[in-house]
Amino acid sequence: MSGSRKVHIKSFGCQMNVYDSHRMADTLAPEGFDETAAIEGADLVILNTCHIREKAADKVYSELGRLRVLKDEAASEGRRVLVAVAGCVAQAEGKEIIHRAKGVDLVVGPQSYHRLPDLIARAELGETVIDTEFPAEDKFDVLKAPSRQAIRARGVTAFVTVQEGCDKFCTFCVVPYTRGAESSRPVAGIIAEVERLADAGVREVTLIGQNVNAYHGEGPDGRPWTLGRLLHRLAEVPGIARLRYTTSHPGDMEESLIAAHRDLPALMPFLHLPVQSGSDRMLAAMNRRHTRADYLAIIARVRDARPDIAFTSDFIVGFPGEAEDDFRATLSLVDEVGYASAFTFKYSARPGTPAAELAEQVPDEVKSERLQRLQGAVDRHYAAFRASCVGRTFEVLFERAGRHPGQVVGRSPYLLPVQVAAPASMIGEIAAVKITGVGPNSLFGALANERVRAGPVPADAGG
Ligand code: SF4
Repeated sequence: MSGSRKVHIKSFGCQMNVYDSHRMADTLAPEGFDETAAIEGADLVILNTCHIREKAADKVYSELGRLRVLKDEAASEGRRVLVAVAGCVAQAEGKEIIHRAKGVDLVVGPQSYHRLPDLIARAELGETVIDTEFPAEDKFDVLKAPSRQAIRARGVTAFVTVQEGCDKFCTFCVVPYTRGAESSRPVAGIIAEVERLADAGVREVTLIGQNVNAYHGEGPDGRPWTLGRLLHRLAEVPGIARLRYTTSHPGDMEESLIAAHRDLPALMPFLHLPVQSGSDRMLAAMNRRHTRADYLAIIARVRDARPDIAFTSDFIVGFPGEAEDDFRATLSLVDEVGYASAFTFKYSARPGTPAAELAEQVPDEVKSERLQRLQGAVDRHYAAFRASCVGRTFEVLFERAGRHPGQVVGRSPYLLPVQVAAPASMIGEIAAVKITGVGPNSLFGALANERVRAGPVPADAGG
């Protein structure tokens, strides 16, 4: 159904927010809202925010300043624009947003997205609405499923949230406060969602959650299922050729999940396993609940199960009390694991977290210097990993047309984009590609003769 109003949703932060933004658009579509990529001309603007990094919240406030101007301009033309703030900044700051940024009509936390139609109706009547509750009802039961058309427009890969919240309480992290206690979606709803995606042409699904491998959703047998068991079931969905999951905590790499890496060809050999620090003293101060040796033992077990697996990670430098020796332990861990890549961050205090109260904050110039050294080490491994791909043949899932005519771009099992000379009709297919060269952030390859696992792709799927 074509709507008479337009909604623009801007996502900040993680993949979970991208997924939530899609579900918000799906829920608003039956209410007559068409999604638009252009902020000008939108009747409703939703900023789906992230609170993990200080800069991310700052970006939201400066964006709200710009939106105020847009809103005033629209008003001078006799047009009303509603501004909504969703996501983790909405959850964490609630009323504060209304005080700090004029022109915001609605603040909605991640657990209340299914209530959006009602909340927007109230805001349209002139009420300033704040809903940051953790409602008893399950939003996934109420959120609308995407239309076939919406799924196809989003391409041949998709995210599916299976778990939310976290009970780990790492001392630097806001997630347990903004996303609440750990909860898992029941298996049946996830299967139905993945079947719908596959039916519309999706070939690769990434299961997401703040602590995804703590998954323990209720199975059809009434018992809690592990993530490993869920992956086994999803691998049976016709059309689904690839599965991934993120983000994981090392302490939740349980046996069935490690076995899934051994037994499921559809589970890609690529695992993001954040460690944050290589120093036991820092890991304890961060309340990570594992030591360096525990982490390395988990890496070894997963490698045993899937020898061609590549790892990536997250690191924080300059956590309160971090001494040079602690930092060196992080550098040596990077070398010991040999990560394919990693995200590196300077510690920044998030209000309300225990680490923000610690006395021994590290000076910013020390943090910057360590970040640079760590990034240098990560870059070396990233370059070595990409170089090691040359001459190998990978199965590549083609996702979209390339920048140049006659070129398509796909992903290797290791997520690196691969640019290949091939017809656009191959989008949605998986084919063997021999890697011939390396770019700054991608690989170049040529189709190997054999085409593998060509899938049932709708004519209008993908780009
Ligand atoms: S496990 Fe991850 S999401 Fe949970 S508190 Fe720690 S860093 Fe935050």
